[in-house]
Amino acid sequence: MPALILKPGREKSLLRRHPWIFSGAVQQVDEEPGPGGTLDIISANGDFLARGFYSPHSQIRARVWTFDDKTIDRDFFRSRIRSSIAARNSLLDAGQTDSLRLIHAESDYLPGLIVDRYADILVVQYLTAGVEFWRETLAELLLEETGLNKLYERSDADVRELEGLSPRVGVLRGTISDPRIDIQEHGLKFLVNIATGHKTGFYLDQRNNRQRVREMAYGREVLDCFSYTGGFTVNVLAGGAKSVLAVDSSSDALSLARENAALNGFSADQTEFLEGDVFQVLRKLRDAARSFDMVILDPPKFASTASQAEKAARGYKDINLLAFKLLRPQGILVTCSCSGGVDAALFQKIVAGAALDAGADAQIVEHLAQAADHPVALTFPEGMYLKGLVCRMP
Ligand code: SAH
Repeated sequence: MPALILKPGREKSLLRRHPWIFSGAVQQVDEEPGPGGTLDIISANGDFLARGFYSPHSQIRARVWTFDDKTIDRDFFRSRIRSSIAARNSLLDAGQTDSLRLIHAESDYLPGLIVDRYADILVVQYLTAGVEFWRETLAELLLEETGLNKLYERSDADVRELEGLSPRVGVLRGTISDPRIDIQEHGLKFLVNIATGHKTGFYLDQRNNRQRVREMAYGREVLDCFSYTGGFTVNVLAGGAKSVLAVDSSSDALSLARENAALNGFSADQTEFLEGDVFQVLRKLRDAARSFDMVILDPPKFASTASQAEKAARGYKDINLLAFKLLRPQGILVTCSCSGGVDAALFQKIVAGAALDAGADAQIVEHLAQAADHPVALTFPEGMYLKGLVCRMP
């Protein structure tokens, strides 16, 4: 059996059941397997710690499949997939929501495997050498365990490069004639483009936050920054917002946002879609003395690692400061961060600093996080990436 032997003292994270083994912890690899091949992970003393897969091209040299001596085969993956899917059965109201994340990689004990369900289509991302090695088996099992027959691959995330894998996109199983899929979320309709959309097409992780924001939107004039395909925009309209200005730099995203508003029956005169850079648009709105009753900030990731946190912090501070300045009395700021490198405590500090500099005595009235179909394994805190605050102006 191939084996990865750790340097002395480097077994601690494995004893805490963290699934990553960095190259610096590796003493030697015996019977070196190919990329994604199974190996045992052994301490310097010769104790068995875990069984995992090999990533020769990555700084994360191996990842754990299991901490016991289970055989890694089709049955192993069937059981992991089955329990991930079963855990989601209680999460959703089937009549209202038909799209969710079924497998959330490390946090579902399948490192590098993302599976999202959009109505009756599965979209998969194989992001590590291990899941790439098992790609055909996993594809078959996913269809067997869900009872579906359409599977689309979106293995085009940048992280694949770190594993030495090239991007791959396209239909993997079944016939998918149109990549634009109609989905339902909390009773609202959305068009999702699984071929060209971000991630696998839609930000499913914001589902509950969109619904919460819908409940707070009644009668408000809303500014939705980084609107993408209109997730928050459609929700605030559904909640009775007086008007929405949606801003995004992508014209494709905005045209889908426009379609999504129409799909749910909202009239064009309530909604304005503006293509632009939010950093500049916020300044223009401030200079024009515009104001709003609700501002939503849901920017892309500014920092994936803690080392980029400082630069990210400047970005967050800038947009939050400007947003506070645009808010009317009793106005609401919904502000999010999906940067893994900025944790919830740091994000709150940044927002507090922005409020102070804007002269806004705002309060936090709610904390937001990723939805329950994006769980965080307690052994893998890196899985916690989305956080948000709802702040109210005096
Ligand atoms: N709130 C959305 C998801 C937002 S994703 C939802 O719930 O579905 C982030 C969006 O920010 C993307 O659509 C991207 O096109 C946009 N974006 C990135 N940088 C930008 C910038 N500087 N100005 C405006 N939009 C930007």
